[in-house]
Amino acid sequence: MAKNSPQKAAISPTRAEDYAQWYQEVVRAADLAETSPVRGCMVIKPWGYAIWENIQRVLDGMFKATGHKNAYFPLFIPKSFLEKEAEHVEGFAKECAVVTHHRLVAGKDGGLIPDPEAELDEPLIVRPTSETIIGAAFAQWVQSYRDLPLLINQWANVVRWELRTRLFLRTAEFLWQEGHTAHASEAEAREETLRMLDVYSTFAQDFMAMPVVRGPKTPSERFPGAVDTYAIEAMMQDRKALQAGTSHYLGQNFAHSSGIKFLDAEGQQKFAFTTSWGVSTRLVGGLIMTHADDDGLVLPPRLAPAHAVIWPVFRGDDTRAAVLETIERLGKSLRATRYDDRPVQIETDLRDMGGGDKQWEWIKKGIPLRIEIGPRDVAAGTAMVARRDRSPKDRESIPLAELPARLPALLDEIQASLFERALAVRSENTRAIDQRAEFDAFFTPKNAQKPELHAGFALSHWCGDPKCEAQIKDALKVTIRCIPSHGIDRCAAAERLNEAGACIVCGQPSERRVVFAKSY
Ligand SMILES: [Zn+2]
Repeated sequence: MAKNSPQKAAISPTRAEDYAQWYQEVVRAADLAETSPVRGCMVIKPWGYAIWENIQRVLDGMFKATGHKNAYFPLFIPKSFLEKEAEHVEGFAKECAVVTHHRLVAGKDGGLIPDPEAELDEPLIVRPTSETIIGAAFAQWVQSYRDLPLLINQWANVVRWELRTRLFLRTAEFLWQEGHTAHASEAEAREETLRMLDVYSTFAQDFMAMPVVRGPKTPSERFPGAVDTYAIEAMMQDRKALQAGTSHYLGQNFAHSSGIKFLDAEGQQKFAFTTSWGVSTRLVGGLIMTHADDDGLVLPPRLAPAHAVIWPVFRGDDTRAAVLETIERLGKSLRATRYDDRPVQIETDLRDMGGGDKQWEWIKKGIPLRIEIGPRDVAAGTAMVARRDRSPKDRESIPLAELPARLPALLDEIQASLFERALAVRSENTRAIDQRAEFDAFFTPKNAQKPELHAGFALSHWCGDPKCEAQIKDALKVTIRCIPSHGIDRCAAAERLNEAGACIVCGQPSERRVVFAKSY
């Protein structure tokens, strides 16, 4: 493993060598998470969990600012609940964990077996999502139009029995939030659906520094049981799309199946209109794949568990006390400043280990700023400051007295530079394509300039026929990520979004382009 040699990266393999393996190695090197003895489930370690806690804290504030309240519903869903909505059960049946017994007894060979006497009358499903169990509660809570809108969010874990899993991106159990709302009218429910899509988009761009395109999904990509599904989609560094959040307009489908009814102002009984929306720990995977580089994780300051780390450089015992005292004073003054909506978080690393190893450990963890203080800095009243968005060797000497005031500005600069960098990657790899041959070449790795990478976003025409969509998916494993309404900008192709053209498959007329990409 490379340490101080500039030509070699700290993460092996690099992105260009093996992107999938690079991702796993970044997760390991940054100490974010690990696989667990339970197949498909992850252990989220403190540095990774702290990122999730920051995501939760910011989003929770945004949900409350838009009128939502948190509640909690059961982990288990009776099988009959899931069966109430036909499309919904069909969509999730393939990946459900089912509880059938409530007691274990000793088996013949000494192990434990489910007690045949303790079989449940009705199996319970470990929630894959909670529309049905929350719908049952809403049916009780909603009687009159005065009870609406009902705006609820739940922070929870869910289980979808995935066979091929990757830490954060796809795991059998994951953490998420699911918003569920009920409204008196279609217009209000549709407004809510778009409002929450907007919240997700703002969060992704302003906090994760991850550019997203947003818009409705095609019917074949909708959430099971939804009338309309909207998504935010981001381009990862391997140029695949990551669906980072979804917001669903459910119409009256779940209100009918769960019996969410209300008396309107005229005393007429009506079914409510509902929505649901969610983001998950998958966002952490998106954050890694948007910003990490060949030296490890790179964290946007607004979500970083800590903003800066300070460590001492000793040159002999006689200066030790002075260095430590300077570090303590600096730590205190930095912690007294604020960045964003929270006090600046400072790690002080006094472990007895080499400065080189220490530096690389923090680089791999992606901390935005690294501050070194040695005897010469103490004498000069300065500190050596390095930014994670720049080369490891690029360091600046900053007067100690100025550092508390400079810190928020430095963090803002890093936050902005990460967004710009991610936007540049997306812009460079987004193209308007009208010819099928060019489209096929764009999505065929052996024809790409860098064969290890997939090609990016193609803004192409689609007639609206699911058969054309399916043909592209079968031939190239490429799907329509969304019909973009916002968020594709600052690239030449985006200006051609709304021009009319011909379907890339059948040549039938099309009014606007959609986003085609390979995806996670
Ligand atoms: Zn077509």
